[in-house]
Amino acid sequence: VGKDSFGNDYVDNLKKNGISTAFVGQTADAATGTASIIVNSEGQNVIVIVPGANLLLSFEDLKRASDVICKAKVIVCQLEITPAVSLEALKMARASGVKTLFNPAPALADLDPQFYTYSDIFCCNETEAEILTGIPVGNPEDAEKVGRMLLERGCKLVIVTLGAEGCMMISGDEPIPKHVPAGKVRAVDTTGAGDSFVGALAFYLAYYPKLSMEEMIRKSNCVASVSVQAPGTQSSYPYRKDLPQDLF
Ligand code: ADP
Repeated sequence: VGKDSFGNDYVDNLKKNGISTAFVGQTADAATGTASIIVNSEGQNVIVIVPGANLLLSFEDLKRASDVICKAKVIVCQLEITPAVSLEALKMARASGVKTLFNPAPALADLDPQFYTYSDIFCCNETEAEILTGIPVGNPEDAEKVGRMLLERGCKLVIVTLGAEGCMMISGDEPIPKHVPAGKVRAVDTTGAGDSFVGALAFYLAYYPKLSMEEMIRKSNCVASVSVQAPGTQSSYPYRKDLPQDLF
């Protein structure tokens, strides 16, 4: 993050939520990346992303964090940092047997194909799925076609999130696609739903590895559906103890 008020707030927010900031750096060379978000009355959003300091995260930074990355249970990567650095992080993790979860957001049409082979779980939304495969996704059947194509490109397991429809999963081990519906809720602001889903999935993979993938996805749908019921990208449940207890 930058050495600016957004950067300071970001670090404070991580600390307030008990998240380690040991590897968060503040640079004077760029402003903190920001995003302007417009939400309509159905809770759908349009986001204008303005990258900044996030694009300065380097291979050197990765090396400094390699001990932590290689001892992790799960790594989550996406495309808010330079794609080559994100890919290198996946490779470092894979080499140490760390489970890799990749979310191709924001979508990139010419994604390096190695992202597929280094993803144990490849999780994209409908827009990202279309940009990557050319297949417009409007229902679980379209998502199945995307899933099959991404498996062929080398992913082990593909999840396509479908907003209010939940998501579709398909894997090499279980080639029959499964639609995992989300609960019916009143969406106020869907911004960050995908991040919420991916974060929850990483949590279940790390702390409840014995759950079936379908159960992890069902629970991640629940967490993400909580996130859409309040404005902003922060949960309406600030503490874990306030979340529905069947999620643990
Ligand atoms: P993104 O935020 O990346 O566009 P999605 O819109 O596909 O991702 O949402 C991710 C997940 O959030 C969904 O799979 C679902 O679990 C949950 N979700 C999103 N919108 C709704 C909604 N309107 N009602 C219930 N759950 C939702």
